[in-house]
Formats: sequence, structure tokens, C-alpha cells
Amino acid sequence: TETLHIVGGGMAGAEAAWQAAQAGIDVVIHEMRPKTGTFAHKSGDLAEMVCSNSFRSDDDEQNAVGLLHWEMRAAGSLIMEMADTHRLPAGGALAVDREAFSQGITNRLMDHPKIRREDTEITSLPEKGHWIFATGPLTSDALGQAIRAETGAEALAFFDAIAPIVHFDSIDLTKAWFQSRYDKGETEEERTAYLNCPMDRAQYEAFIDALLAAEKTAFHEGETAGYFDGCLPIEVMAERGRETLRHGPMKPVGLTNPHAPEVKSHAIVQLRRDNALGTLYNIVGFQTKMKYGAQTDVFRMIPGLENARFARLGGIHRNTFLNSPTLLDAELRLKSRPHIRFAGQITGVEGYVESSAMGLLAGRLSAAAILGRALPAVPATTATGALVTHITGGAEAKTFQPMNVNFGLFPPVEGLKGGRRGRRDRYKGYTDRAKADWTGWLGAAG
Ligand code: FAD
Repeated sequence: TETLHIVGGGMAGAEAAWQAAQAGIDVVIHEMRPKTGTFAHKSGDLAEMVCSNSFRSDDDEQNAVGLLHWEMRAAGSLIMEMADTHRLPAGGALAVDREAFSQGITNRLMDHPKIRREDTEITSLPEKGHWIFATGPLTSDALGQAIRAETGAEALAFFDAIAPIVHFDSIDLTKAWFQSRYDKGETEEERTAYLNCPMDRAQYEAFIDALLAAEKTAFHEGETAGYFDGCLPIEVMAERGRETLRHGPMKPVGLTNPHAPEVKSHAIVQLRRDNALGTLYNIVGFQTKMKYGAQTDVFRMIPGLENARFARLGGIHRNTFLNSPTLLDAELRLKSRPHIRFAGQITGVEGYVESSAMGLLAGRLSAAAILGRALPAVPATTATGALVTHITGGAEAKTFQPMNVNFGLFPPVEGLKGGRRGRRDRYKGYTDRAKADWTGWLGAAG
């Protein structure tokens, strides 16, 4: 059988290699470290955790990332096996001893008779063979340029300017309202494209004070180049002048508040629908370097968002990622070169677990392709399926930003009520359904 080449032995590449090798495929991992480093990696080990040592919640009934843990364990994930082996006490979270974890993974992969490692930086997209590119958020410059030459400049980002994303069912519609500045809103899609949250002068001034006072995170050395084009953090805008936001993302023109039609809003925060399901909305133009705790406090000052739950918070950092909704098919293949798959954070998922999960999927899909077997599509009702469906189709291509797994990506379960009160039952409904469907998929996939 043919060899599978995996570029990048990070979280995704390590899992992809394991899955393919376990399916009987010969694998070569091309990893540039330790010869060529990144600003975040410290070692030459495979699957190095670059920052926190947490895989987040391990609750597989009420939490989407916990469900992803469950699915990966059920699929024989090496990342999860080693996380469980090197687990540290951390309440409901899955924290790991990072050095023991990545050394354990490195040893298991290097001991595998089907896996070989080459310490090389790959700097171009190959013409033939079976390949998975899992080079992560810090993809080397030369490869980044090669990918950009293939995809076009618009379709590969080197930076992430993430606006916070809110669960629709946590927005107070007695204060917020649907209206777009430009469209009349003839279809349901157009009518629900934007939500608006009004502020009076006192609320605006208090909001600016809070933005200026909030704790911010610093950039890593060498990380900032080019970040100022078109994506200033809101707190930097506020520093430039107290009125700047009112003339920028918070401008109150072209909108009328149906809850108080006679009052002119001093400023308006707009949220834009973030997915086809309409379960998620992002706060337009609100990329920020505020610390996470500060963000929830400051954003809950916005009228209508007092009880907002965030699917993800805002940020700005170095992150190489594809516009997957336009570039990748549902099997993570590059449409223009289907012998190449992408996996991990470069596909527009975010986080250790999500990246590993996309590696797991890519490894299995590549192995099946080499063996000449067709795998059924992963059900969109599973955490893995919800993620891959989102990045390769469900997300809006124009505003595509990296995504953590969350229940907003799941299709609704029939017969369960929405809103705050039904949440526990709803999440249990999602996770029960996901486990059944994932088990079915693993069985059908062989
Ligand atoms: P990586 O784990 O980065 O693996 C990619 C691998 O490809 C690396 O080993 C790299 O050396 C190699 N490589 C790159 N280019 C080439 C090339 N041309 N040829 C050969 N090899 C190459 N997520 C969290 O869940 N929690 C966090 O706390 C967290 N903190 C982060 C902090 C920083 C500074 C960054 C950049 C990201 C962070 N992330 C975090 C996000 C993300 O989850 C991790 O980066 C995760 O490791 C992504 O997995 P990956 O396999 O896609 O990429």
C-alpha cells in the first residue's frame, strides 16, 4: 500500500499518524522541530502543548469539549490515552503533565513499526502521493507562502482577530432587535442577519471607561507584525478617542429601535449571525486583547447581553488558518489538490482537543482512501461531525473565524425546549444522541 505523509507532528499530526498506522498504513511524519523552531514550541517532542496544560472540561454529558473527549476515546485516540495516563488533579477539567504527555506520545509513535519520522521542513505543496498537512497556527513562513500561492491571499489568514461569539438563546430580545442597516430583510435569513443592542450616553461612557480600565494580554515577541491592518482591538480604538467607537463599529446610524422608536440611540452594538443554524451571533468589530474574565464583565454591560453566554471570547493572535468553507471538501481535502488533506488548527478549529479531533478524522479518512474503502460521512450530530460540518460548510465563508466545539454547532434535538430552563436536558439530549451516532459511525467505518 501507499505511504501516508504527514506534515507537522503537533497535536493533530500525532493523532493522524496513530490512527492511520493502527489501520495498517505506513506513515512518515515530517516535523521541522527541533531544527526549525516556532516562538511557542520549546522542544523537539511530538504533540507539544504550547501553552496551557488543560484539555478543558471532561464532562461528557453537559459540555461539548467533554463530549469530544468521549468520542476520541471511543475511537482509540492516542492523544486521549496519554492525557488520561498523565492526568493531573484539576476538578472537572482534564489537565495533564505536559512533558510526560508529549514524551509518552513521541515514544509510542516512534515505537510503532508503521511510523517513521523525518526532521524536515516542508516548504511546498506536493504534486502527488497521500498527504496530510497539520502544520498548525505557527506554520512556517515558507510553507505559509506556498499555501497562499495555491489558495489566493484572501483564503489564508496569518492572524486571528476574533470577535466574541454569543449564544443566541442568551440574548435578551426585549432589549435587542433584528435589523440590518443595508438590507430590507425580505427573507428570513436577511431578516435575522443582524441583531442590535442600543446604548444611551451614560451607558456608552461607562462602557468606554470599562474598556480602558480592563486588563489586557500582551503580544508574544515577534507576533505583532501586520496586525494593525483593518483589525484594531476595540480597546485600542477607545484609547484613540472616546468617540472613535461611536464612529466605527458602534455607530448608531440607519437603525431604529422598535422597543423605543422615539428615542435616538447614542451608540449601537451590532451582532451578526455566525452560522446557518442561527444559534450563534458574533459582536461585529469587537476583536480585543482584553483578558477573558474582563471580556465577560465588559460585554455583559451591553444592553441585551446582561446574561450572555459566550461560545468563544475575542482575541487577536498569530494564527495561520485556511478559509476552509471555500477551500476544503467535507473530507478535509483541498478541493484544488484532493490528494492533500488538512488537519488541526490550520483548518479553522481552535484548541488542543479540536485540533487533535480533526487529526483523528483526517488520519482515518486518509487510511480509508489508501485502502480503497469509502467511509460514511461523520454524522453532524456528533461533536466531531458538528465541527467538521461547520468548518467545511456550515460557517459563513466571508466572516470565517476559528471555532471551538460548542453546542451551538449541533442541530437541534426534536422535542426538547429551547431557552435557559431546558438547557441541562437539551445538552444531555445532544450528548446522548452524539454518543449513539458516533458509536454507529465507528461501527460502520470498521
Ligand atoms: P501544532 O500543535 O502547533 O503542530 C504543528 C506542527 O507542525 C508543529 O510541531 C510545527 O513545528 C510543525 N510545522 C510547522 N510548519 C512546518 C513545516 N513547514 N514543515 C514541517 N513541520 C512544520 N490551544 C489550547 O487548547 N489551549 C491553549 O492554551 C493554547 N495556547 C496556545 C498558545 C499559542 C501561542 C498558540 C499559537 C496556540 C495555542 N493554542 C492553544 C491553540 C492550538 O490548540 C494549539 O496551537 C494546538 O497545538 C494546535 O494543534 P496543531 O496540531 O494544529 O498544531
